[in-house]
Amino acid sequence: MDFQFTEEQLHLQKMVREFATREIAPHVHEWDESSRFPLETVKQLGRLGLMGCIFPPEYGGAGYGYIEYVLAIEELSRVDGSVGIIVAAHTSLCSNHIFIAGSEEQRRRYLPRLASGEHIGAWALTEPGSGSDAGAARCTATRRGNCWVLNGSKSFITNGAYADVAVVVAVTDKGHGTRGLSAFIVERGTPGFRAGKKENKLGLRASDTSELVFEECVIPGENLLGKPGEGFKDAMRVLDGGRISIAALGLGMAAGAHDCSLRYSRQRKQFGQPIGDFQAIQWKLADMATEIDAARLLTLRAAWLKDNHRRTTLESSMAKLYTSEVAVRAANEAVQIHGGYGFIKDYPAEKFYRDVKLCTIGEGTSEIQRLVIARELVKE
Ligand SMILES: Cc1cc2nc3c(=O)[nH]c(=O)nc-3n(C[C@H](O)[C@H](O)[C@H](O)COP(=O)(O)OP(=O)(O)OC[C@H]3O[C@@H](n4cnc5c(N)ncnc54)[C@H](O)[C@@H]3O)c2cc1C
Repeated sequence: MDFQFTEEQLHLQKMVREFATREIAPHVHEWDESSRFPLETVKQLGRLGLMGCIFPPEYGGAGYGYIEYVLAIEELSRVDGSVGIIVAAHTSLCSNHIFIAGSEEQRRRYLPRLASGEHIGAWALTEPGSGSDAGAARCTATRRGNCWVLNGSKSFITNGAYADVAVVVAVTDKGHGTRGLSAFIVERGTPGFRAGKKENKLGLRASDTSELVFEECVIPGENLLGKPGEGFKDAMRVLDGGRISIAALGLGMAAGAHDCSLRYSRQRKQFGQPIGDFQAIQWKLADMATEIDAARLLTLRAAWLKDNHRRTTLESSMAKLYTSEVAVRAANEAVQIHGGYGFIKDYPAEKFYRDVKLCTIGEGTSEIQRLVIARELVKE
């Protein structure tokens, strides 16, 4: 067992940290206030190879593994979770679905432009009536000659309004439950495909979360992604990787909440001394640091297993569940350590407090992670 990062991993971590400090930190407050999608930053991330971290160079990727991907998402989210979730949904959901289920032609056609950031990707599984119960989707894809015709809507789709490419899960065989679902690639500009309502969110406000609407949307037959009827199965494989990135997102925000708390506890004086001298504050910082480290180990273990081509359903869910709950606790303590200043927008604690909550909801709620973990534990 080796707990050390390689030189290359440390170099990547430093590069992303410096980028986030220089290019993201100065804008975080304004992007959050105005819910502005940081399009130019996303393009810059693409030029740095961070929009296709986990894909091999022959598909335009950086050729890194999940360990490096976790480091990158953590460093981005430490400064702004919105940027973290934009990269995560693009990479480990949309692009990765194409990578793991796509034909060679589909990989070559879509991945290089996604990996370079020229195109932005979205992944659409959730619907108004089917969230945790994703198998109850109602959006349909009907065969018509050589084409598929999509009808219905998807809700809460990250990058939805900015996506050039969307992977969409739809019903192809009604009455067959999860085995009747298939995945499709839909390109922006296809008649009958549009982004609908943009959500006005509690947190991660600079990320886009939109409805996708399909009205007699005709796509070519070759845009079927994977085998018919295997869309749900593939989506669950995609989520095994996606949950590692939500863990990394939570980890970054928890670490950011700890960073600002430590800083503040040294600066803020009450009763003639820094509040960090009070044991009550020290214990909060100690508990936060310990839990964050445990969350990091769970996340890196899941990433390591993924890089070693092992099944990670159990470990990804454990990492996602634990890290997201740690992040919520850490952000809560960060506000407490900041006192009244934790409640106002001039300090970063307030934003972490709002942003982290998504981690216990997206890509399967904490309740669903517990179901997945328990199911894995009790099965033969
Ligand atoms: C900011 C944001 C970004 C998102 N991005 C995407 C995206 O890019 N693509 C995408 O497809 N989706 C996305 N989602 C959707 C997200 O994955 C769903 O919101 C989530 O899976 C929960 O579904 P739901 O909101 O319908 O809640 P519901 O499923 O209605 O759950 C409501 C409550 O009931 C609980 N519950 C449900 N079923 C059970 C059960 N069997 N046992 C115990 N408790 C249960 C849940 O845990 C929760 O507490 C996003 C959501 C948000 C908020």
